[in-house]
Amino acid sequence: MHDVERPAPQAEMGLWSHPSGGRRNREEEGLMAEDGAYALFCATVDAASAVAGITDQWLLERIKTPERIHQVSIPFTRDDGHRELLTGYRVQHSSARGPYKGGIRYHPNVTLDEVKALAGWMSIKTAVVNIPMGGGKGGITVDPQSLSIHELEAMTRSYTERIWRCIGPLVDIPAPDVNTDSRIMDWLAVEYGRLSGVADPAVVTGKTVEHGGSLGRDKATARGGFDVLEAALHAAGDDLRGKRVAIQGFGNAGANAALLLQEAGAIIVAASDSTAALVSATGLPVADLAAYKDRNAHFCDLTEIERKRADSPLYEEVDILVPAALEGQITAANAERVQARWVVELANGPTTPEADEVLAGRGVHVLPDILVNAGGVVVSYFEWVQDLHSERWLLEEVEARLAVIMKRAFDAVTTLANDRGISLRLAAYAVALQRIADAIREGEVTPRRSISTVIL
Ligand code: NAD
Repeated sequence: MHDVERPAPQAEMGLWSHPSGGRRNREEEGLMAEDGAYALFCATVDAASAVAGITDQWLLERIKTPERIHQVSIPFTRDDGHRELLTGYRVQHSSARGPYKGGIRYHPNVTLDEVKALAGWMSIKTAVVNIPMGGGKGGITVDPQSLSIHELEAMTRSYTERIWRCIGPLVDIPAPDVNTDSRIMDWLAVEYGRLSGVADPAVVTGKTVEHGGSLGRDKATARGGFDVLEAALHAAGDDLRGKRVAIQGFGNAGANAALLLQEAGAIIVAASDSTAALVSATGLPVADLAAYKDRNAHFCDLTEIERKRADSPLYEEVDILVPAALEGQITAANAERVQARWVVELANGPTTPEADEVLAGRGVHVLPDILVNAGGVVVSYFEWVQDLHSERWLLEEVEARLAVIMKRAFDAVTTLANDRGISLRLAAYAVALQRIADAIREGEVTPRRSISTVIL
């Protein structure tokens, strides 16, 4: 796995977490949905719809509302024989521009509301970078820290058994997200092949290279974010050399970003996992820390480097802050304490709208998640194309194609933002909404065989 953490109860919880840290009943779910992550997604879409020139309320509702929601029970047996029934989800948000695409998250705070929001963000993201895919997301409400490897595999196979009829290489293609990795994607692909009789690696991306994964997928999210940050700094007449960086979340996205930024001359002065932050004014030994995390170890146990609270990277005196953990980390309550001039949102939804306003008022440049962390889905798309065509691209090829796509997306978003005097986030949503709306309208004029038809 990327890294399965010992949960730090308060620190690990995102803004929309349930106070108990556990599952919610339906009533609570309904209440939370009023001001939860999905409501935030809808509010941002509403705000961007005016910029995108979408006045048709029916069309807007169609863009926001998930096409399908699957909630599943997942029976599995612990190593000690104890039987459990977990809850899982697969939300298929939009297939207007292509098959549903999005990761699977294993986390105790996974709720339907969160998965709906994450699925919506995927639809926007695939449209911003203009790849021919829609948006979806899945998850299981579980603490993966509590699972043995055998239990993890059994749970993944049981979840696959529940969802295999509604995914597929041309329908819905899952990928890794928080606490899921290439080994888990391999299990999913194998189980899908066993159940469907179609052993097609294109059913899931983020697999190991030996099982049809793409070179460069592991670092793709970080590399895409790096490409966007470099372009933004360049546009501001600046570069990365000597820039001081703090990273919240040292998993797949955060650790790889740290490596790339350090390579480009930046100094990583703070980095955290869910248990603690490590700080060093002269720069952290990033490669050693990445190797340390690969062994599933925790920063709180590392005594050789100065440690602070897990949330401290948010407040360090740095040039660049990279939130790379969970949603809702920069809020109205703490945005004033952010010192960075640049916030690079590798995590999904790390900044609340209220915090966005505070940061904008203080002249902080926020590079929004749906643009900055889209590198992962772009290389997932490359992996899918390679699998469908039985091709294997060189790493250089993958990275060069990714750079072109990220630069084009950055240019489209910044052009609109500058023309209209709006934030990059609003501009990114508007670019995406225009493309999704065009696809829906086009589908009405020239009906095509929709993804929904393929499922049935
Ligand atoms: P991961 O599981 O590999 O890493 C998450 C890291 O965040 C872990 O080190 C964990 O300890 C840390 N963390 C969790 N809560 C924390 C807290 N409160 N304070 C400090 N650290 C905390 O997950 P990932 O794949 O790197 O994903 C991280 C974020 O990036 C998520 O929001 C995810 O949706 C987003 N993202 C990931 C990808 C991808 O390809 N991996 C793509 C797009 C977006």
